Amino acid sequence: MKQVDVIIVGAGAAGLMCAAQAGYKGLSVLVVDHAPKAAGKIRISGGGRANFTNMGVNPSNFLCDNPHFVKSALAQYGSQDFIDLVDRHGLAYEQRALGKLFCEHRASDLIQILRTECDWAGCQFQLKTAIESVKFLVDKSQYQVNLQPSEGASEAVVCQNLVVATGALSFPKLKASGWGYQLAQQFGLAVLPVRPGLVPLVFTGKWHDFCASLSGLALDVAVSVERAEAPSFSEAILFTHHGLSGPAILQASNYWERGQYIEINLLPELNIEQALLALKADNSLVVSWFKNHFPRKFYQAWLALFPMPERLADTSNDALKSYAQQLQHWRLYPSDTAGYDKAEVTLGGIDTDELQSKDCQVKKQSGLYFIGEVLDVTGQLGGYNFQWAWSSGYVAAQSLTPLKLE
Ligand SMILES: Cc1cc2nc3c(=O)[nH]c(=O)nc-3n(C[C@H](O)[C@H](O)[C@H](O)COP(=O)(O)OP(=O)(O)OC[C@H]3O[C@@H](n4cnc5c(N)ncnc54)[C@H](O)[C@@H]3O)c2cc1C
Repeated sequence: MKQVDVIIVGAGAAGLMCAAQAGYKGLSVLVVDHAPKAAGKIRISGGGRANFTNMGVNPSNFLCDNPHFVKSALAQYGSQDFIDLVDRHGLAYEQRALGKLFCEHRASDLIQILRTECDWAGCQFQLKTAIESVKFLVDKSQYQVNLQPSEGASEAVVCQNLVVATGALSFPKLKASGWGYQLAQQFGLAVLPVRPGLVPLVFTGKWHDFCASLSGLALDVAVSVERAEAPSFSEAILFTHHGLSGPAILQASNYWERGQYIEINLLPELNIEQALLALKADNSLVVSWFKNHFPRKFYQAWLALFPMPERLADTSNDALKSYAQQLQHWRLYPSDTAGYDKAEVTLGGIDTDELQSKDCQVKKQSGLYFIGEVLDVTGQLGGYNFQWAWSSGYVAAQSLTPLKLE
């Protein structure tokens, strides 16, 4: 039977990082993936340019039932470590707003770097290969992984360490799967409820029609959600045929739960009530004020829904307050998210309490590791999810051990 030190299931961001680091330690590494190509998500990420990390990575950028869990991995391998790696390969990249680093040309340049690292480290790859079953060989404390390279065929490989880097449920068209959760359950590990994250929000009724009529339009606003402890996000929203998207909405979606409202401050830099009082004092045209602050298409649609007098001279201050309230605290109840087909990430997953934070190894199952998005760790928008893949992949590799021979 074929034997290797390490099998890594999943040739995505976390799996490739872990594979290269393990290979550099002199371990024999086999990376298995059921997709025909490695790193499908990196290829399409960041609009094809991969927002691969952030200059300001901090544990508070991650959602996890145990917020302390990410600290160790991020401290051992932070954004500067990954930047040093891509610098060694001469990657051209650029820094955009809020510290986001993107490839200057193509995300595939990043895949090329990771594949080169794996080649230099001597990793073997077996793509288009499914996992039929995993058996723990109790007497040897090793794992027997039964691979299925093609329909009907089967091949067993024994390893000392099994690293699960199969990601999560978002983007099923890129072969996303819940296999990691199933394996966790096979070993009696808790899996926390999952839901789509960094995902557009959809509406029914009048708000659906309102958004659809403005489809393609973007506004810089601040978005918060009903949950008191959730942060507010000052970025763009984008109207779509089904509701709202854009960075501020994707960020807010990580904190939104069904039945809750989101709140949009349409002019976060302005005290709108004061501005309307000044407009009343001037007795100038309301529409001119809207023209100064919003695109025509938006304010026409807004005023059609929430009509205001032409001038405010005869308007009571209470009425002004409520117009301002509407613009500054626009509350909307999404009917749902756009689902896993459109979600960049999956919230929830394998309970991090099951793992050692220093190396992502299962506490009660030596040699079994879970890294990347399969865990209950979700980054905010901005390159944090890839950073988690790099950090968790790196730390797992540090404690992998050679196969014990009899
Ligand atoms: C459209 C989109 C854009 C994104 N943009 C960004 C961005 O710019 N910046 C950022 O930080 N994050 C971004 N993300 C999120 C980021 O891609 C993920 O968080 C990251 O790829 C997770 O890494 P991973 O290695 O855990 O999983 P993945 O990269 O998803 O890799 C998992 C691998 O496991 C394989 N696999 C799954 N099931 C099985 C199985 N049963 N058997 C064998 N193999 C299996 C898959 O084929 C895949 O290759 C984006 C995601 C999407 C969908």
